[in-house]
Amino acid sequence: SVDFLHPVAVAIEPAGSGKVIPHCSGIADDFFETDGQMTKRPIRALALSALAPRSGELLWDIGGGSGSIAIEWLLSDPETQAISIEPRADRAGRIAENAQRLGVDRLRVAIGSAPEALDGLPRPDAVFIGGGLCKLLLDDLRQRLAPGTRLVAHAVTLESEAFLAEWHQKLGGDLLRVELAHSAPLGTRRAWKAAFPVVQWQVRL
Ligand code: SAH
Repeated sequence: SVDFLHPVAVAIEPAGSGKVIPHCSGIADDFFETDGQMTKRPIRALALSALAPRSGELLWDIGGGSGSIAIEWLLSDPETQAISIEPRADRAGRIAENAQRLGVDRLRVAIGSAPEALDGLPRPDAVFIGGGLCKLLLDDLRQRLAPGTRLVAHAVTLESEAFLAEWHQKLGGDLLRVELAHSAPLGTRRAWKAAFPVVQWQVRL
């Protein structure tokens, strides 16, 4: 069964003390409360670019985590809609809190696992898969979704990357591998500390 959380209030910071949310995708990570499961800023910007939100469109954010993808989709335009699908109740609660704090309390959170938790949801214009990749998910989504739906999936593990390689072979689209490094202290000097590579698959069904 799927429960929905409907956050209702928007917290307003006292004048002059609040941080201003910039009008771009890839806002700073510290806008979001997280337990660590979150698509970080540079990769999130690439996800939003591929998802390409437009006014009036609905996103399914499968594997909501901290909600950052769905929240940035909603921040892109006041007429957008989004549903985050997340099995862990603690994370679902955090997603709703993040959405409320950032002024996009129209975010819906479906607590449950894809694909079962997708039953009964209104059909989306775009789908992001940030968690829950499994063998049958693509076939399931192709049955549920209208032709033309934009699909963007990210994989970090070799196992989920293998699914994306297979699906890319079957359906085409674009496969992108992103390797980023941040400067970090090394003794008294600095060096590049590599993040795990992320593979992004983007396709129109
Ligand atoms: N994009 C998110 C981070 C995703 S982390 C963000 O920016 O915050 C991956 C998430 O997928 C985890 O929270 C995990 O609980 C969730 N997940 C795992 N299996 C899932 C499934 N079958 N359906 C939906 N979510 C799932």
